[in-house]
Amino acid sequence: MFDVAVIGAGIAGLTVAQQLHQAGYKVVVVDKSRGVGGRVATRRLQGTCADHGLRYLEPQGQLIEKFIDVLRVKQSDFEGNRGILQVWTNPVYEWEPAKLNSSSILPRYVAPMGMNAIAKFLVTGLEMRLNQRVQEITPTDEKAWHLTFEQTDKLTAKAVVVAIPAPQALMLLEPLAKTIPTEFLDSLRTVEFDPCLSVMAGYPASRQQDLSNVETGNLRLQPDVTRDSDLAWIGLDSSKRPNPQMPLFVLQSTAEFAKRYLDAEDLNPAASQMLSRAAQLLIPWLDSPEWFQIHRWRYAFPSRPLDRDCLDAGTPLPLICCGDWCGGNLVEGAMNSGLAAAVKINQQMEMRSLPGESFLEALA
Ligand SMILES: Cc1cc2nc3c(=O)[nH]c(=O)nc-3n(C[C@H](O)[C@H](O)[C@H](O)COP(=O)(O)OP(=O)(O)OC[C@H]3O[C@@H](n4cnc5c(N)ncnc54)[C@H](O)[C@@H]3O)c2cc1C
Repeated sequence: MFDVAVIGAGIAGLTVAQQLHQAGYKVVVVDKSRGVGGRVATRRLQGTCADHGLRYLEPQGQLIEKFIDVLRVKQSDFEGNRGILQVWTNPVYEWEPAKLNSSSILPRYVAPMGMNAIAKFLVTGLEMRLNQRVQEITPTDEKAWHLTFEQTDKLTAKAVVVAIPAPQALMLLEPLAKTIPTEFLDSLRTVEFDPCLSVMAGYPASRQQDLSNVETGNLRLQPDVTRDSDLAWIGLDSSKRPNPQMPLFVLQSTAEFAKRYLDAEDLNPAASQMLSRAAQLLIPWLDSPEWFQIHRWRYAFPSRPLDRDCLDAGTPLPLICCGDWCGGNLVEGAMNSGLAAAVKINQQMEMRSLPGESFLEALA
């Protein structure tokens, strides 16, 4: 029997889990994926890696600034004397139409070993169950929640935090309609997400030379393009790595573009179209990669978030939802929502002293 089961090992889930774990609760975190981080995702490929989810952290907001400070001094597991986060090459190698006219560009922090390292940092000391998709949550006679997994395994906890995108939370919680209030499910129903397609594309090592000719500053931007219907962002991902051997770009689609391919079985035509568009916008050879991979984010960015920092079911057995769709968005929103969810759970349990924002220093 655990005190708290957290469903979802993204930034929100890991934040709430750390809060409660550091306060002395017996916590378990469950995730359907093989690794932690959720949308803070890094794929290992072709002898290197690519960030196909979170691109970088910007010091926007008190909590993220603190997180960045801790991660800059915390030594990476892989490279003894380097911090997990570093300032991305200055200038940054990215193209983003919406920001072309922005005068205040903040520094961007990246993890040379992949952005997923920041999620791994938050796992320190936590009990994890990975590769376990929660299929059902049911209240038991012993005043606890029962979690049933796709596989045969099960677990029991006195409280549950559902730290996954609202539409997925709804699918999981709708069968509990007799146990949880209708308003709670209705609130979940109001939340909407935009999808996004991410293409990772690698180019011959010889192209590295072409990039060194790119004038300092952004890649050859077309200053008159302030919006594109297909592409939302292009980044030279390999410029985040120490000594890149070949150029590797990550392209992110707009929501409108991704919606056209939401249920497509074969995403290769979408990838080809995105690469062609990148070639038109930026560098002609971008449409001829040596290899590419594509990833579909069905729930990428909350387009209609909830006006609350977490969502409390108000049931006799504590049940709280949180995530970037509560109160804000992006990583900062996810962390703040995790903090708020921990406060709510604690109020309904043993009213212990929670670490609050200092949970990050405790990990460092
Ligand atoms: C392409 C892309 C680029 C982005 N770029 C930026 C950026 O530059 N800056 C920024 O601040 N933010 C960015 N974001 C957003 C940021 O990544 C998210 O806001 C944040 O990571 C959300 O964290 P979360 O914990 O709320 O949810 P998630 O990261 O989605 O975590 C939810 C977890 O729940 C798990 N899960 C779902 N259902 C179940 C189930 N039934 N059982 C068990 N586990 C389950 C999932 O596997 C996942 O690990 C980007 C996102 C995307 C997709």
